[in-house]
Amino acid sequence: VFSHVARAPEDPILGVTVAFNKDPSPVKLNLGVGAYRTEEGKPLVLNVVRQAEQQLINDRARVKEYLPIVGLVEFNKLSAKLIFGADSPAILENRVTTVQCLSGTGSLRVGGEFLARHYHQHTIYIPKPTWGNHPKVFTLAGLSVKYYRYYDPATRGLDFQGLLEDLGSAPLGAVVLLHACAHNPTGVDPTIQQWEQIRQLIRSRRQLPFFDSAYQGFASGNLDADAQSIRSFVADGGECLVAQSYAKNMGLYGERVGALSIVCRTADVAGRVESQLKLVIRPMYSNPPIHGASIVAAILRDREMYNEWTIELKAMADRIISMRHQLFDALRARGTPGDWSHIIKQIGMFTFTGLNSQQVAFMTKEYHIYMTSDGRISMAGLSSKTVPHLADAIHAAVAR
Ligand code: PMP
Repeated sequence: VFSHVARAPEDPILGVTVAFNKDPSPVKLNLGVGAYRTEEGKPLVLNVVRQAEQQLINDRARVKEYLPIVGLVEFNKLSAKLIFGADSPAILENRVTTVQCLSGTGSLRVGGEFLARHYHQHTIYIPKPTWGNHPKVFTLAGLSVKYYRYYDPATRGLDFQGLLEDLGSAPLGAVVLLHACAHNPTGVDPTIQQWEQIRQLIRSRRQLPFFDSAYQGFASGNLDADAQSIRSFVADGGECLVAQSYAKNMGLYGERVGALSIVCRTADVAGRVESQLKLVIRPMYSNPPIHGASIVAAILRDREMYNEWTIELKAMADRIISMRHQLFDALRARGTPGDWSHIIKQIGMFTFTGLNSQQVAFMTKEYHIYMTSDGRISMAGLSSKTVPHLADAIHAAVAR
């Protein structure tokens, strides 16, 4: 009965790793995947995460019962504090509802489906380009996806004018997806002043901001700085949605731990919204997993562990920033044609190199370097040892 089923294409991002795994070359380099690697090229489990896991194991009173539909309540409260700030008026006024979800992706999906059921506008505007999963997640959630201009290939920076024009002509009330920081794949974020103009425009058009926060603390090394865009929208008293992920900033990728928060006008509305979120979640996966959320709660509730986390987080962010400088310097040293300053200007895990798909294919074939065909490279996958190989490959690809 399944003989008619056609083979689906590999996921464009995860497919890079599939191709990489098949390559026997000893010098192969995977810059496709968005996961942190140490200077030795190894995945990293944070010390503070190990410590939290040890605590969980030692606690004989812990059981593995189901969590409530909304997840671990303490985790939800701590996650809201982390993203909105401990003194956020929305939290103090109980206007925020937070539900634990399956990492960032699950949070986006649950938020999208809630909007499809209960919000009067079903169009969501997402940046062009954006994380490849966004359009699929929102379409399947029941929203219709449109794009606003974001990136200008000529400057390798923000197309701010285009962004303002497109959001300015998007319908009143439309949902607008914003990357809270470290825009993926471009690494290009608005400045604080530009954020303020975006906020004013969105509020004046009564549009609904939906923030995707996959990199809090990972971009600048500072948890508060990376939440600033969101906090400015909450400070004005209006509504917004936030999808939070602990994949990158706590290195909890496979634990699938994240949260969806919806900031409402009143505590009463927030309570009703939460009751409806439960109706979205229950038939989807009943309730979220307990382990990752327990790790996060253990770290966020304890001052010492929290401080240790911020130190480890900053070390990851700093290593990535240092890779940017090393790559930039290596290209300059080779006299590679072109202005590569965007490598040090962009922030977060990725550099949008500006290499085209032919150049990428060349680098994969001749240098065994793997990345998405849009020329996005994960700086977290680089090390001092591999920078020269990458710089050689880019140099050869550009000089062709
Ligand atoms: N949004 C963005 C912009 C991302 O880059 C990612 C991870 N690549 C996610 C959401 C979701 O990640 P996860 O579901 O692993 O938290």
